[in-house]
Amino acid sequence: MSDINFKDYIRVIPDFPQPGIRFKDITTLLKDGAVYRAAIEDMRKAIEHLQIDIIAGPEARGFVIGAPLATALGVGFAPIRKSGKLPGETIQASYDLEYGNDSLAMHKDAISPGQRVLIADDLLATGGTIATSMNLVRQLGGEVVGAAFLIELSYLTGREKLEGVEVFSLVTY
Ligand code: IMP
Repeated sequence: MSDINFKDYIRVIPDFPQPGIRFKDITTLLKDGAVYRAAIEDMRKAIEHLQIDIIAGPEARGFVIGAPLATALGVGFAPIRKSGKLPGETIQASYDLEYGNDSLAMHKDAISPGQRVLIADDLLATGGTIATSMNLVRQLGGEVVGAAFLIELSYLTGREKLEGVEVFSLVTY
């Protein structure tokens, strides 16, 4: 594991996108190539023992974490998108966010039955996004063996929605 204090690279923006929310902005981490690479490398080391077959990640920031993690492990990546964005046949599930709600979709052939799946996102808050992502992966017959996040807001207890799944987060608030 690197000795970088990743929190030093995450900018906290008060009252975005709504009053009272302290938004964790990772763009300040992503723009530093060495720090971004170290973050992905530390996440890779933490999850490699899970022997996953594929990573699934929700748009948009789940792509920024999940896709480099997938290439670092040499496994595939399955995008989870807002409904109406994927061109092929999809399955859908609705979800609540820390602020607002929406519905997510995956291609029906994104995951093969029995595949060991890790779900990756930038941030675990209430767990609504990740619970919906798990729902989609399980509908497709995937086995969700892990979830990995750059950031976990532990005071929102999203981890409780991930029972039975190994959860790793690089930075906790
Ligand atoms: P949850 O569904 O409540 O766990 O919220 C997690 C989702 O909301 C993730 O996909 C994040 O990208 C987004 N999100 C919520 N709060 C923040 C934040 O403070 N910074 C960045 N993304 C956030």
